[in-house]
Amino acid sequence: MTTTQKIRRLVLGNWKMHGSLAANGQLLAAIRSGWNQSSHAAACDVGVCVPFPYLAQAESALTDSDIAWGAQDLSVHDQGAYTGEVSGAMLAEFGCRYVLVGHSERRAMHGETSQLVAEKAKAALGAGLTPVVCVGETLAEREAGRTLAVIGEQLAPVLALGKEAVAALVLAYEPVWAIGTGKTASPEQAQEVHAAMRAAVAQAGCPGVRLLYGGSVKAANAASLFAMPDIDGGLIGGASLVAEEFLRIAEAGATTRSA
Ligand code: PEP
Repeated sequence: MTTTQKIRRLVLGNWKMHGSLAANGQLLAAIRSGWNQSSHAAACDVGVCVPFPYLAQAESALTDSDIAWGAQDLSVHDQGAYTGEVSGAMLAEFGCRYVLVGHSERRAMHGETSQLVAEKAKAALGAGLTPVVCVGETLAEREAGRTLAVIGEQLAPVLALGKEAVAALVLAYEPVWAIGTGKTASPEQAQEVHAAMRAAVAQAGCPGVRLLYGGSVKAANAASLFAMPDIDGGLIGGASLVAEEFLRIAEAGATTRSA
């Protein structure tokens, strides 16, 4: 199922646990000036999700630019005795617009369940942030023919948050086997899952939810992915650490027309 509604593209970087004050300073300045000079800046939303300690640096470097910033996780709690946790309200104080929730690295390494991921999405919305909810199957699940079932299971508690919540979030399909491996899903493989996700959000009354694809997206393959009718942008890991690559992906987001 495809939507006829025109959905504004979003290209979002996920820096993961990379960076230093010096390296970030150069990267943020290069992205800011490159996107500022781009004739396409008005046609695609762009943002970077940085490690917590660098939020103040991102805020200072990107304020009054066309580039938003955000974090890679948040607590389900508002405040309290939760050592090491960071609340949505704290992220909002640093001007964050986006926060990733349920990235496969957190599901795999920190035992985050789909129910917890939905609770984090709710906490993010409560703090005025846009949660970017990540879903994706492992290679074993794909090979067992379970891809759409797994995506459905991961989405179910998020969709159960209700229409108002679903309308305010972003979903990212990131096949686990494609993250950081150099193996990108083919545009057709990605589109098949995105079409199913579109059907699910449409059934929840929100056909216009942005559906990002993530997994080894580079400047060289971005346009073919963004040409798919239900891919509304990308969540970019490794390539978001190289200003020129990231800017070219963002330009592809701005200029590629859906088939
Ligand atoms: C990610 O970590 O969200 C991601 C998509 O990584 P990469 O682009 O490096 O595969």
